[in-house]
Amino acid sequence: MSMNFHEDPVYREEFITGYLTRRLSADLVEQWESHYLACDDCFEEIRATELLIRGLGEPMVERRLVNDVTVLRFAQGSQLLASSLELAELSNVIRVQKDTKVLIDLSRVSRIDSTGLGVLMNCYCHAVKNAGALKLLNADAPVRRVLSVTKIDSVLQMFEDEGAAIASFGLPQA
Ligand SMILES: [Zn+2]
Repeated sequence: MSMNFHEDPVYREEFITGYLTRRLSADLVEQWESHYLACDDCFEEIRATELLIRGLGEPMVERRLVNDVTVLRFAQGSQLLASSLELAELSNVIRVQKDTKVLIDLSRVSRIDSTGLGVLMNCYCHAVKNAGALKLLNADAPVRRVLSVTKIDSVLQMFEDEGAAIASFGLPQA
């Protein structure tokens, strides 16, 4: 497959959209990343498309209330990395909504890096400062390993059962 994105702008746009919505194979992602990170033109293009998708698209973080606990779940497979839009959205959702009892369902999160951990800890501090709590649900093995190595799992309680997690927040305030 040709990686000359500059000859066909429509193709490039479709490719970028596929990349941002994680519909490309790992192989294509790798080829694309090695190109656009070194190409100012494509780098600009991907930022522009990112903003467009963000403005028009479905929310990346689904939010629902169970009793007075906010349960957040990612709408699709996600990565909580420095460069991820879903990480920015997670942080926004928690801050803007001023949720204080928060349960984050990590079942669709495949990777997390130090920025992702930092956002989780920030959100945790924000919740605690407002007399709430932030807990995690259904972390996959790779994510659990990172949480364990960094000892963040000693601060952020983790659950495998949503009912048990909700109950651990205590009774809803009257
Ligand atoms: Zn390029």
